[in-house]
Amino acid sequence: MSYDPNNIFARILRGEIPCKKVFENEQVLAFHDIAPKRPVHVLVIPKGAYVSHDDFAAKATEAEIAAFTRAVGQIARDLGVAESGYRLIANAGVNGGQEVPHYHVHILGGANVGPMVSAK
Ligand code: 5GP
Repeated sequence: MSYDPNNIFARILRGEIPCKKVFENEQVLAFHDIAPKRPVHVLVIPKGAYVSHDDFAAKATEAEIAAFTRAVGQIARDLGVAESGYRLIANAGVNGGQEVPHYHVHILGGANVGPMVSAK
């Protein structure tokens, strides 16, 4: 899948759509999900144009990957969920239920996140 520069998160990165920012550095932006599923629900995105985790893993620089990984951990600590626990989710593609085609990790916490996925 090629990157769509008009996806919602690309527009947030360009400042065309507002967000409730919780973290930003040269490589990474994080903001509250517009429809939170738990008391803490933050989205962490790389600033580069990557569609999914596999796209990011294949094309991002070592520096981008390190910055993103470190930012996710830092944000979890800053949000106060590192002690009580949290879940990271990275949906990809149709079967993964990805709605926004710019790579992102959900950090969910502040309450029990529940079972991983229901069996089918
Ligand atoms: P996905 O299903 O792609 O993993 O998750 C996309 C997430 O983006 C959803 O949880 C949805 O609520 C969130 N979202 C969609 N549009 C916006 C928006 O304009 N602003 C923010 N902050 N979150 C959004």
